[in-house]
Amino acid sequence: MTRITVAKGDGIGPEIMDATLRILKVAGAQLEIDEIEVGEKVYLAGNTSGIAAESWDTIRRNKIFLKAPITTPQGGGYKSLNVTMRKAMGLYANVRPCMSFHPFIATKHPVMDLVIIRENEEDLYAGIEHQQTDEVIQCLKLISRPGCEKIIRYAFEYTKQQGRKKVTCLTKDNIMKQTDGLFHKVFDEIALEYPEIRTDHWIIDIGAAKLAQSPEDFDVIVTLNLYGDIISDIAAEIAGSVGLGGSANIGEECAMFEAIHGSAPDIAGKNMGNPSGLIQAAVMLLTHIGQTGVAQNIQNAWLKTIEEGIHTKDIFKSGFSKKEVSTSEFTAHLIS
Ligand code: ATP
Ligand code: MG
Repeated sequence: MTRITVAKGDGIGPEIMDATLRILKVAGAQLEIDEIEVGEKVYLAGNTSGIAAESWDTIRRNKIFLKAPITTPQGGGYKSLNVTMRKAMGLYANVRPCMSFHPFIATKHPVMDLVIIRENEEDLYAGIEHQQTDEVIQCLKLISRPGCEKIIRYAFEYTKQQGRKKVTCLTKDNIMKQTDGLFHKVFDEIALEYPEIRTDHWIIDIGAAKLAQSPEDFDVIVTLNLYGDIISDIAAEIAGSVGLGGSANIGEECAMFEAIHGSAPDIAGKNMGNPSGLIQAAVMLLTHIGQTGVAQNIQNAWLKTIEEGIHTKDIFKSGFSKKEVSTSEFTAHLIS
């Protein structure tokens, strides 16, 4: 039994989390669940951080966290709850697999199967900004050697473990010779320890362009925080739907798993959200804690559902899909 923390979040969060928890239960995942509340409800009840102190205790104690999307209130106070969680839990690596499911889901990129590993704590996200004069504002870009080493080593170890073949490093070290230069240098150093893994490096702008045009040329990508943020969304979008992807935020002690999409308030409460992203996150969680058999069973049932053309509205397309289903119908089909 592994004790984990679960947050149902906002918008479609509760619907897709209920679906995911049902699947985990039926599949026999050995999990004990502590549910906490985060997000809009907590915020509206007067806690402007969006999370109660005792919920932090639960997160820290359990170390493994399955989180549904959280809404950021307009002009609200906890804009960075996601960033705060990553920092507080020391989640230095964001891992986001992006693959297409040709010929079952419509895509322009039928052979896409890549993983983006994004540095999650440093770079411009350190949140250090100053006003220097009336007209000049500065934002500090922090890059440390230990930070680079941790994320780059993680990327190579991940590549080895997953039996993948190549790691591509993306930086802008032609312009930011010191910060991005350090990241690239550490990449070249650590690459020497993994002679069996192929490596290459692209400047982020042309790298992003190549990713959008020919994602099949990429395997594992490792990059700095901001670039990773941007290319993660490009990759998820061209793979099919934002409703399909899961991601892991990995730290030395803790790990948090979530869908890549937001809370989709426009379709909340309508039983039409695609639970796939959160299901994928749950599969990553199970793999992370060593329950690989259950993870594989869920992944196979999910693939079979997708392959049989049982699709929620966001991915429904005639010619590819057979039946448009609700969140609960999708879940029932997967379980059966
Ligand atoms: P955030 O700021 O929280 O990241 P966002 O502005 O990126 O939010 P999302 O909440 O991800 O937006 O939604 C973007 C669009 O994609 C919306 O139209 C939403 O309905 C749709 N969408 C997102 N996730 C899903 C899903 N799981 N199933 C179906 N549609 C989804
Ligand atoms: Mg978003």
